[in-house]
Amino acid sequence: MTAPKTFVAELGVIGGRLVSRPRWDVDADGRILRAGASAEFEAPPAGATRDFGRALVVPGFVNAHSHAFQRAIRGATHRRLAARDDFWSWRTAMYERANTLDPDGLFAITRVAFREMLRAGFTTVGEFHYVHHQPDGRAYDDANELSWQVVRAAQDVGIRLVLLEVFYQRAGAGREALAEQRRFCDRDVEAYLARVEALRAAGVSVGLAPHSVRAVARPDLEQLAAYGARERLPMHAHVSEQRRENDECLAEHGCSPTALLGECGFFGRPRGFTAVHAIATDADDRARLRGQTVCACPTTEADLGDGLVEASELRSDGVALAVGSDSNAIIDPIQEVRLLEMGERLRSRRRICLAGDERGLGASLLEIGTVAGARSLGLDHVGDLVVGNAFDAAVIDRRHPLFAEVTDDAILDALLTCATASVVSHVVVGGVERTP
Ligand SMILES: [Zn+2]
Repeated sequence: MTAPKTFVAELGVIGGRLVSRPRWDVDADGRILRAGASAEFEAPPAGATRDFGRALVVPGFVNAHSHAFQRAIRGATHRRLAARDDFWSWRTAMYERANTLDPDGLFAITRVAFREMLRAGFTTVGEFHYVHHQPDGRAYDDANELSWQVVRAAQDVGIRLVLLEVFYQRAGAGREALAEQRRFCDRDVEAYLARVEALRAAGVSVGLAPHSVRAVARPDLEQLAAYGARERLPMHAHVSEQRRENDECLAEHGCSPTALLGECGFFGRPRGFTAVHAIATDADDRARLRGQTVCACPTTEADLGDGLVEASELRSDGVALAVGSDSNAIIDPIQEVRLLEMGERLRSRRRICLAGDERGLGASLLEIGTVAGARSLGLDHVGDLVVGNAFDAAVIDRRHPLFAEVTDDAILDALLTCATASVVSHVVVGGVERTP
């Protein structure tokens, strides 16, 4: 709770539209009471005014998929680790690090990642959290010990958090969890849901996250989907990041991971489910995902050699696109959406691939980086700087050399396709400046 405040700047984006000299009146709870061009306001600001000057104010970016602790292996996994380096050799190195973390260590590295997210313009993070228990798999005295550390890190730096609490059970079809996966696993769905209920009772925004069809058996998937539907919680899962997952799913269930999730009941509500990656999907999978969201993680997918998501096909088949920083090797929302567009260009040998029917490319990429991520996390009042929403904003410094000679009408396209997060000068979360 703060005092009412007014924010103004040279340029801003309201409802996807560029506005000159915008003004937002924000109440003590950080909600937008009035928004528009300053000239349209009749009354002067009631409270203090924060003028960002020669700046462009855009909605704060939404990071729909993060594993904050993986920030710890930046650099350390960017050299040769195996005779053939791929996703699976990276995963071995990542597990080693995951198993060294104690509660204080998890808090510290999560805080580092969340601070860097704010600096880069992310004001919301969906933390896909799966390091739950002690390295040998025994629960801490409080089974949510490590989840609380994530919550504490988010509160400490002031980023908006949706905790995507992960259910993890096994190494694969008929294979028990590996020793290095034990601390990810709950005893059963009931034990997991007891943790979820405790987090929700404490006011934490929670989403359900069966890790993947690799890590969760079919009856458990069905039970989780039923709970998520009943409680109207956002549901996320890793889907078809690697072809091997599809092969294993076909052998176990006779269908693709997307088809299995559909049969288990994950697609009952529009935008209720988010498939993270969805790289090895086909036209039938895309049709099943219509009305849902795919969270692409382009910097991580490039880093891990996963492949390119078929973003244009997903969009034309009615699937929303959001982005996430995933492994946090790079934390930069502008790079995520930019690389999504560039991947499409490299695949299609064409340009300007993800522009909307009416909207320019910049506005369309901004929507992917903001509103779409908010919806995927179940946040209805985040992602756009319109009346009734939280004032969560990223302030872009127009004096940055990158914008020299860039005109107002080109600023959004330049920002989303030619810039990096280095142009972000301030962030505001719920009306409170949180610039690290
Ligand atoms: Zn992930």
